[in-house]
Amino acid sequence: MTVDTQVIVAGAGPVGLLLAGELRRGGADVIVVERLARPATESRASTVHARTMEIFDRLGLLEALAPPPRETAGHFGGIRLDLGGLPSPYAGIWKVSQIDIERVLAAWATGLGAEIRRGRELTGLTQHDDHVEVELSGPERLQASYVVGCDGEGSTVRAAAGLGFDGYAADKEMLRADVAGIDIPNRRFERFPAGLAVAARRPGGVTRVMVHRFGAKPGRRAGPPEFAEVAELWADVTGEDITAGTPLWVNAFDNTSRQANRYRDRRVLLAGDAAHAQMPVGGQALNLGLQDAANLGWKLAAEVRGEAPDGLLDTYESERRPVGRRVLANIRAQAELLLGPPAVDPARTVLAELIAFEPVRRHLAAMISGLDTSERKRHG
Ligand SMILES: Cc1cc2nc3c(=O)[nH]c(=O)nc-3n(C[C@H](O)[C@H](O)[C@H](O)COP(=O)(O)OP(=O)(O)OC[C@H]3O[C@@H](n4cnc5c(N)ncnc54)[C@H](O)[C@@H]3O)c2cc1C
Repeated sequence: MTVDTQVIVAGAGPVGLLLAGELRRGGADVIVVERLARPATESRASTVHARTMEIFDRLGLLEALAPPPRETAGHFGGIRLDLGGLPSPYAGIWKVSQIDIERVLAAWATGLGAEIRRGRELTGLTQHDDHVEVELSGPERLQASYVVGCDGEGSTVRAAAGLGFDGYAADKEMLRADVAGIDIPNRRFERFPAGLAVAARRPGGVTRVMVHRFGAKPGRRAGPPEFAEVAELWADVTGEDITAGTPLWVNAFDNTSRQANRYRDRRVLLAGDAAHAQMPVGGQALNLGLQDAANLGWKLAAEVRGEAPDGLLDTYESERRPVGRRVLANIRAQAELLLGPPAVDPARTVLAELIAFEPVRRHLAAMISGLDTSERKRHG
C-alpha cells in the first residue's frame, strides 16, 4: 500500500505542532491537517511548567520562546505553593502565551519539514490492516500509516476510532475576562462569602478577572458569556464595579474531567486535550498535552521507520495514561478546594498547614511541575 504520508496529525494546536516536529526529528514524514484557516489569536493558557521547559530546552526552542524570568509562587487549589527548589534547572513557573508557543512550534515544525495544511477538517477515518484512510472536508482523502488525534477536547478522531471518554460532568464554572481600562486591586484567589475572585494586572494595563459564585452550576452556553454577566457576578462577589472597562476577551470554563479509555486503537492514537479534558487550573492542561507529544513523537517515528522494538509504541499509553489520570485527580482536588463553598475552609486550613512541611511542599510542587513521572526519571 502506498500512503500519502507516514503520519497524519489532526490539529495544529500546541500538541499537534510539537508532535509534528518530534516526528520529523525522528525521520518520519508528517502532514498536519488543521480545521482553522489561520492560527488562533485568542488568549488561552500562559503557564509553562518545569518539565515542559526541559522539553523545550532539549529541542533548542528556548531562545525563540524568549521566556521571561521565572516565578516560583504557584498554588494548589488557591493555597500558596512554592514551586522553586526542585531538581530541575527550570523549577518554577514561566509565563509564555499559548499564541507565542504555537507560533514558535509551527515555525520549528515546518522548518524541520512538517507540512501543515490549514482549512482542512478531518471528518472521518477508516482503519485498515496496514494503513488508515482519512476523510477531510473539501472533500479530500489521505492515507497514512498512522493517525494521531491532537484535535482537542471534542476530538473527531477519538469519536471516529470509537474510543470512550469517561469521567465527570462539570458542576462548577468560572467566568473570566481580559479587561482594559479598569483599576482594581490585584486579588490572588481571594475567597469572599459569596464566591472566589482573582484579578491580575498584566503588562500593557489589561486586567484578567476570574470569578465564581459558590454553589452555582455551570450555565447552559452556546458561546462565551457576555461581559455584562461577568461584571454582574464580579460586583456580587467583590462589590466592585467593572462595567466601565472594555472587555478584550471573555470566556467561561468548567471542571469537566474526562479521559480517553485508551490512547491507542491499532493505527490511531490520541494526545493532548483529545485524550483528556480538564479544568485549566494551575496551568496543567497545556503542559500535560505537550508532555504527551514529547513522549509519543520519537516512539511513533521509530515505529514508522521500522526500528522500534516490540511494544515500544504501547509504552506511550502505559506511561502517559496513568500520568494523565493522576493529573486529572489533582485538578479535581484543586477544583474542590478552590471553588468549594465555605464548608471546605477547614480542609484548606489543614492543607495549608501540611504544605508548610518541606516534604509535602516538594511532593505537590513536583506533581504540578510534571517532574515526578517515571518516564522523566528514566529519560531525563
Ligand atoms: C478558551 C480557553 C482557555 C484556556 N485557558 C487555559 C489556561 O488558562 N491554562 C491552561 O493550561 N490551559 C488552558 N486552556 C487549555 C489549553 O488551551 C489546552 O489544554 C491546549 O490548547 C491543548 O492543546 P491541544 O493541542 O491538545 O488542543 P487544542 O489547543 O484544542 O488544539 C486542537 C486543534 O485541533 C483543531 N481541530 C479540531 N478538530 C479538528 C478536526 N476535526 N480536523 C482538523 N483540525 C481540528 C483545532 O482547530 C485546534 O487548532 C484553555 C483552553 C481554551 C479553549
